[in-house]
Amino acid sequence: MPRLLCVCLLAAGVLPGAAETPEPGKAYFGRNRYVEYIAGDLPFVLSAPHGGREKPEELPDRAKGTFAFDTNTQELARAIDEAFVARTGHHPHVVICRIHRRKVDCNREIVEGAAGHPLAEQAWKDFQGFIRTAQQAVVARHGKGFYVDLHGHGHADARLELGYAHDRDEFALPDAELARPEFIKKGTLQFFALQDPAGYPALLRGPRSLGGLLEQAGFPATPSPAKPVPGSPYFNGGYNVRTHTAPGTGFAGLQIESHSKGVRDTEASRRRFAAALVEQLAAYLDAQMGIRLPTKPAAK
Ligand SMILES: [Zn+2]
Repeated sequence: MPRLLCVCLLAAGVLPGAAETPEPGKAYFGRNRYVEYIAGDLPFVLSAPHGGREKPEELPDRAKGTFAFDTNTQELARAIDEAFVARTGHHPHVVICRIHRRKVDCNREIVEGAAGHPLAEQAWKDFQGFIRTAQQAVVARHGKGFYVDLHGHGHADARLELGYAHDRDEFALPDAELARPEFIKKGTLQFFALQDPAGYPALLRGPRSLGGLLEQAGFPATPSPAKPVPGSPYFNGGYNVRTHTAPGTGFAGLQIESHSKGVRDTEASRRRFAAALVEQLAAYLDAQMGIRLPTKPAAK
């Protein structure tokens, strides 16, 4: 009896199969709990590939690549989940890599990310598979969705770096260049931005861009009206955001590289930033994608 089998598998918290409906707010795990998926029911998917702290001995240290740990981004992802629940009464989909970047890099293609080790490859596949599971659930329920890949940078300029897969010097181009459909197709907002090419420069760096909204909420960001051309260094968006906003996914999105102080350094910072991010995302998604997040009914 398939239905009973489903219930048993879900109760054990294993990878949900294609026919399953994961329970919002419940955590599911890949092999050895290296990757965690908190299922959601909002049209929003959040991932944190570099906030893992665990260093299991069965996985060798990778010899080549980048190993920087994005401090507290796992905790920030959980705070963002809580902020969505506080505002909407519903969960986003959240995918977290719980092991250290020394062991696996879930924001690189598998050859560099897992360095050829089968168990690291399994963790990488669990991470990417959960994101796909989440996106498919969102598209089935809502028709489209928004994706954020969450990171932390240590650059001197304490500012959120928003990555749309455009190089930093491209933001210095005239508006007419940015509004070309061929340019928009290189970016991570193409799912909806192609409907209004002339509006694309403002979508990246105008007052109603996500950078503009976050700055108005007190969090310096780039690109934005205050800093329309990012400085150097600048992280412009990696493997995950490019892969999971590609044509056919039904998703737009961006990479958020966060500075530490006031954003992710303390529990109070994380709670404050998470609440602001969710508030601004709600306005942005409504205005740009026609996605209206529910509002939590007032407590009686
Ligand atoms: Zn990172």
